[in-house]
Amino acid sequence: MATPPPPPPSSTAPAEPEDDGQIVVNVDHGDPTMYERFWLQMGDKTTVVIPGWQSLSYFSDARNLCWFLEPEFAEAVIRLHKLVGNAITDGRHIVVGTGSTQLIQAALYALSPDNASEPMSVVSAAPFFSSYPLIVDFLKSGLYKWEGDARDFTKEGPYIELITSPNNPDGYAREAVVRRNEGILIHDLAYYWPQYTPISSAADHELMLFTVSKSTGHAGSRIGWTLVKDREVARKMIKYIELSTIGVSKDSQIRGAKILQVVMDSYTQVGNSEKGEDFFEYGYNLMEKRWKQLRAVVKQSRLFSLPEFPLGYCNFSSRTFAPNPAFAWLKCEGEEIEDCEGFLRSHKILTRGGEHFGGSSKYVRVSMLDRERTFNLLIQRLSKIHP
Ligand code: PMP
Repeated sequence: MATPPPPPPSSTAPAEPEDDGQIVVNVDHGDPTMYERFWLQMGDKTTVVIPGWQSLSYFSDARNLCWFLEPEFAEAVIRLHKLVGNAITDGRHIVVGTGSTQLIQAALYALSPDNASEPMSVVSAAPFFSSYPLIVDFLKSGLYKWEGDARDFTKEGPYIELITSPNNPDGYAREAVVRRNEGILIHDLAYYWPQYTPISSAADHELMLFTVSKSTGHAGSRIGWTLVKDREVARKMIKYIELSTIGVSKDSQIRGAKILQVVMDSYTQVGNSEKGEDFFEYGYNLMEKRWKQLRAVVKQSRLFSLPEFPLGYCNFSSRTFAPNPAFAWLKCEGEEIEDCEGFLRSHKILTRGGEHFGGSSKYVRVSMLDRERTFNLLIQRLSKIHP
């Protein structure tokens, strides 16, 4: 008999306090806890038991170029991309990483020549994901160097451009902006999933990054994956991971595989597709609802504005909709508010200021992925801020 699910975490308990203006509303981090309720409802379906004798070896599949990739995780990744139609997997090597954060570093290492006279330039169009400059310059590598906003990049020679699509923080679909022959592109597709944006075509780039953190919400498992065409690039990425962590947790890959299988089962198993069990539908409905609420409160405030997105047809859901991004790129419109982050902090709302993303301090990034309670408090708090 299946064991009953645990009681809901206190954050999802039904009794929600009325906002007295004193509770700090933290929507700074993109912590994907909004998915907690879905997985709680799934009960034991996703439970993984790993006996003590399992996962002792460093090796997962010694015949695979990526020898630390668990075959069942690789299989789940391929099946998921085929189901969703968001990326081509044929003719690609899969490289698993400890989150896509490790894979970004592995890709930078693999794509930078080791005999160049100066470090490879790394750029991304502002507003860019705030971790990129920090990750790139953290260890003051001799191999690569952060050169800032891709739109201002004029330096001759080879470069790496990081392209995040849909973009963190502003949610727009993106393409390369530098467009020179010597450019090497890393496509970070962490948010190219149907709860956030219409899946218009299967992405077919040289090097694509994905993560369970934003697809299913399992950020704590620290699992990401790369689909990479070039064998030599894949080999160097694998070398990087070998030298930094000697592979990637098998336990996490096994759990990741299980989670992806359960996501897919609701689409492929006959008689098991009633509403509420379908993960992407659940995510889409929640994001759609949250964006409607946020747009309504922003409109009424006359102090803020939000980006507008074009409608697109989603091949996966057969629905036409405008993106509901994981983050809201909120602008303080009033001329007197130059520091939007500081202004919101004075109302006990913690966000991340535009400067962290190479943008203006009139903008902030607001996470749309937090628990219901936090999101509801955010809406209540914003509704009380008047010009
Ligand atoms: N890329 C982008 C664009 C992200 O927003 C994030 C997480 N915020 C990451 C990569 C890193 O994700 P993780 O290491 O959790 O896989």
